[in-house]
Amino acid sequence: MRFSGLRVLKEGLTGNKGWTPHWRDPEPKAEYDILIIGGGGHGLSTAYYLASEHGLTNIAVLEKGYIGGGNVGRNTTIVRANYFLPGNSEFYSHSLKLWEGLEEDLNYNVMHSQRGVINLFHSDGQRDEAARRGNMMISQGDDAILLGRDDLRNMLPYLNYDSARFPIYGGLYHPRGGTARHDAVAWGYARGADQRGVDLIQNCEVTGIDIANGAVTGVQTTRGPIRAKKVAMVAAGRSGQVAAMAGMRLPIESHVLQAFVTEGLKPCIDHVVTFGMGHFYISQSDKGGLVFGGDLDFYASYAARGNLPTVEHVMEAGVTLMPMIGKAKVLRSWGGIMDMSPDGSPIIDRTDTQGLYLNCGWNYGGFKAVPGSGNVFAHLIATGNYHENATGFRLDRFRTGRGIIDEEGKGSQHNLH
Ligand SMILES: Cc1cc2nc3c(=O)[nH]c(=O)nc-3n(C[C@H](O)[C@H](O)[C@H](O)COP(=O)(O)OP(=O)(O)OC[C@H]3O[C@@H](n4cnc5c(N)ncnc54)[C@H](O)[C@@H]3O)c2cc1C
Repeated sequence: MRFSGLRVLKEGLTGNKGWTPHWRDPEPKAEYDILIIGGGGHGLSTAYYLASEHGLTNIAVLEKGYIGGGNVGRNTTIVRANYFLPGNSEFYSHSLKLWEGLEEDLNYNVMHSQRGVINLFHSDGQRDEAARRGNMMISQGDDAILLGRDDLRNMLPYLNYDSARFPIYGGLYHPRGGTARHDAVAWGYARGADQRGVDLIQNCEVTGIDIANGAVTGVQTTRGPIRAKKVAMVAAGRSGQVAAMAGMRLPIESHVLQAFVTEGLKPCIDHVVTFGMGHFYISQSDKGGLVFGGDLDFYASYAARGNLPTVEHVMEAGVTLMPMIGKAKVLRSWGGIMDMSPDGSPIIDRTDTQGLYLNCGWNYGGFKAVPGSGNVFAHLIATGNYHENATGFRLDRFRTGRGIIDEEGKGSQHNLH
């Protein structure tokens, strides 16, 4: 089933009876070439690119819940390529280029909207940092514009410029950044992988990883054992638990992050805006709700719900920055489990067990990485070689101390990244 304007028109005129399910609901086979543990954004995109770019289709994605129920459907949907450090910058640049062709590639409307991301700065030091980062983005081939206070006031008249506790000096504008509809990204990749023959097995929790003579041989699941010579662990917030099944202790902490949505309002926030003096980021969804979030909940947890002090903290930051949102009613909030790494950058690597691969450590920026991560991880699994845009995400950097990619300069403190 292909989507097109003509098809939508035809279905609209004939009672919408011709739509078919986006993917099959197959029974798991006894053996596959490749098993992917985790049907989130990264697991699904990995399956999709294994099939579409490498012609490998004897693959199953094993998801303990339902497709789109993890962080891929819980995030605040920001897509950007505004990283400073080599290692990160070429990877996120690669990912953004994939975003730009994604809807055509998948034949699926993921509502990718390049409305621009603006990071505000509030001091001379922050302006210097923004200028440096902008130059790095431009030299990487991406876009960045340093806006002064007057330019910004024209673009974002609703911010509190005059009586703010932290005066706004300007902003770093990244026009190609923006948002996408999070669960549609999961559905689009799921549909694309399924169409190419990948089995998506929902309600199938992996409970053990089988290893013999140093090589992976398959997994144990709640729907029985499944054999495979290659297994990819892509379980985001549950990465530590899954890797423990293979006897590995990962340098990952799992933390809660909350998000919030208000009632639908008339269009008032045209971009993604981030506060420079507190952790707060906001955009407006196509339905009109203000979508925003802030910091982690500051303790490690596997609970996908947050606590009230963080709610208060996020609301305070929002009202400080743009007092006008104080009148909006928050309708919903939820939490997701973040896989926080010690340097704030991800891990995309093979492991010491032959055939066992690892993709995790996305902190709270892994949504924008979904296309890039799946693309480079599929390359590693299919060819055995690191993709040219993802050579730095090695697991052993935390053992050797070489090649740390600490974008925030915060040191080895997971909850600060
Ligand atoms: C509130 C919030 C806001 C965020 N905002 C942004 C943002 O604006 N921009 C951005 O880039 N990123 C953002 N993120 C981060 C981003 O959502 C995550 O980094 C990313 O989604 C993680 O990868 P994933 O999609 O594969 O994870 P998930 O969707 O969580 O996928 C992992 C899957 O593995 C499955 N699984 C776990 N254990 C097992 C098992 N034993 N067997 C089988 N399956 C298993 C889980 O059920 C889950 O479906 C945000 C996250 C949250 C929670």
